[in-house]
Amino acid sequence: MSPFPGRGLAKGLAVTLRTMTKRTVTAQYPDVQPELPPRSRGVIALLEENCTVCMLCARECPDWCIYIDSHKETLPAADPNARARTRNVLDRFAIDFSLCMYCGICIEVCPFDALFWSPEFEYAEEDILDLTHERDRLREWMWTVPAPPALDPAAEEPKEIAAARKAADKAVAAAAAAAAAAAEASAASGASEASEASAASAEQEGDA
Ligand code: SF4
Ligand code: SF4
Repeated sequence: MSPFPGRGLAKGLAVTLRTMTKRTVTAQYPDVQPELPPRSRGVIALLEENCTVCMLCARECPDWCIYIDSHKETLPAADPNARARTRNVLDRFAIDFSLCMYCGICIEVCPFDALFWSPEFEYAEEDILDLTHERDRLREWMWTVPAPPALDPAAEEPKEIAAARKAADKAVAAAAAAAAAAAEASAASGASEASEASAASAEQEGDA
């Protein structure tokens, strides 16, 4: 039992009093834009240059509201001994936002970083059928996607960066070794030329 009877009641009344005397704030939207957290789930933006048409997002979407069309294109072989290559070309990428439940699964599963959350939210339409947005509109929203947060300084270096750094270090070390070997070789040839010249002059002196 509390040593001060009525303490809970006083606490509750204090909260009520504080709330009663607080100024109520009415958001004046659309005259004043709301201050949303930068990572708000407003709309899904598409960076179509990164999309390989792997269809993973469309397959994993629980609402089946991502529509993708594509065709295959054959690229001629760069080498006469190599085979021609085929690649997928995106024809259509659309999301029906009247079905989307903003779960973010499509963004999570995309292996090529082609989908992002944008805080943009002003895309209401009068007709629900107009809520299916095509790739041009999804691409435009890419400009509203906030920059990714900075890496944690204590985080492990990404594998790709570590591999690239190792390769660059190796190339620099190889170039330095080659330069040192070339300098050594030129110094050795300079020394042998000098000793040959001194031997020749000693011979001339002996003849004289
Ligand atoms: S957020 Fe969820 S429901 Fe919306 S398109 Fe992506 S996977 Fe589908
Ligand atoms: S998962 Fe990513 S790369 Fe694959 S189709 Fe969807 S957006 Fe394109």
